[in-house]
Amino acid sequence: MTDIAIRNALVLDGTGNPAMEADIGIEGDRITQVGDVGPAKQEINANGLHVSPGFIDTHSHDDGAFFRHPGMAFKLAQGVTTVVAGNCGFSAIPADPNLDSARASGGILAGVAGEFTDLDGYFEAVAKGNPAINNMMLVGHNTVRTLALGYEKRSPTSAEMTKMKDHVRTAFDQGACGFSTGLIYRPGRWSETEEVIELAALANPYNALYTTHMRNEGDGLLEAVDETLRIGTEGNIHVHISHHKSAGRANWGKIRQSLDKVDAALAKGQRITLDVYPYTAGSGRMIEYFNLDNINRDLAEVIRIASCPAFRDYEGKMAVDIATAENADVTQIIHKILTAPKGDRTLCIHFIIDEADVETNLAHKDMMVGSDGIPDLNGQPHPRLFGTFPRVLGHYVRERGILSLPEAVRRMTSLSAETFGMTDRGQVKPGYFADLVMFDPESIIDTATYDDPKQEPAGINLVMVNGRIALQDGQHTRAGSGKMLRFRK
Ligand SMILES: [Zn+2]
Repeated sequence: MTDIAIRNALVLDGTGNPAMEADIGIEGDRITQVGDVGPAKQEINANGLHVSPGFIDTHSHDDGAFFRHPGMAFKLAQGVTTVVAGNCGFSAIPADPNLDSARASGGILAGVAGEFTDLDGYFEAVAKGNPAINNMMLVGHNTVRTLALGYEKRSPTSAEMTKMKDHVRTAFDQGACGFSTGLIYRPGRWSETEEVIELAALANPYNALYTTHMRNEGDGLLEAVDETLRIGTEGNIHVHISHHKSAGRANWGKIRQSLDKVDAALAKGQRITLDVYPYTAGSGRMIEYFNLDNINRDLAEVIRIASCPAFRDYEGKMAVDIATAENADVTQIIHKILTAPKGDRTLCIHFIIDEADVETNLAHKDMMVGSDGIPDLNGQPHPRLFGTFPRVLGHYVRERGILSLPEAVRRMTSLSAETFGMTDRGQVKPGYFADLVMFDPESIIDTATYDDPKQEPAGINLVMVNGRIALQDGQHTRAGSGKMLRFRK
């Protein structure tokens, strides 16, 4: 007999098809029927709500959060059932127990005492905590480079290159879905394009991805897109551009030219996809955005402090307001924070993106949704950590009409699952894993704001992960049914 029947649902199957009335039958961790379902041990009445595949967050930094917060409430409450971690060149793996893992992972593993060195070990360690959602991993360039040559501002020797390649190949052998770079960050920013091509090309025999936080997202955006397309062509690999944006007022609107380059390459047969977060502010480690000898005033003026171990009372405040209160210049405030003890752990939010560019991005057919949320629950994090997916469906689909509901769901589910090689996920279809979200398209909305960011969204009634109910009517059930996913394409 069927374990669970979800009845009276409007099913969005994830492929872009319009919603259709159907029941969904589930046995164990899989969907067994979509249509008429006989008697079941457990009945769930959807009462006409929509049911779609669980959302896939293609851009997460949750590698360490799986240890710190295995309940992953900030993702689950958004309807997210799977994340891709290891983005922007920083990944939990590989890890060298003799090195500072927090540094090699770009802070992702700060405070997490890992016993693992590779993906198999990491997955085993995460699974012990019974995580609420599924995890697929990338292997990060900054991390492997730090393991091979530390923070040296030079190209790797051939021995170091061999070491880096061994790490990347091992990760692919164990099921990583791609190789990620963060070419604005240290130490990735010191690498030549040729180094990246050589490493990214290792994805080819696995049919895996190259994902990138490009070398420049502002004045040099178009050149950075050219570099990315070249890496894809010369490495003969699928490239995925992370959090596509045009940063800084002087560059607003350039997103159109950037997408034109992508479209021209797509027309020539190159494999390219992208993701975006639905907000006009970025967020990250503040030390990476400033030169201490010459603090950029334009940037300082749009900085908000998210998390600041040195000055907790600055959290949630704009740097300009702190400067006014302390009768100081805004550049002095940035300098003071970054040079204080633990100042390098400061996370900031920077208002650098144009709203029109967010909409242009979301209108592109190969644009997925990635939160880029940084799961530091101390301080006042960027609201994207809690609000990304409901914000797309509530604000950009319902209120703004930028894309249709079935299309938005496709780009949060089947497109992401296919691209990132998640077997039997991303569709409501017999034989597929029962990762499902039940929501009301008329009321779904993010409630997290910059002033009050740790708020779970509204309009999501139920989330199921691998056939187990993980969230129902606002209650996290702690079913712990998430799985560690290995790439297969
Ligand atoms: Zn990034």
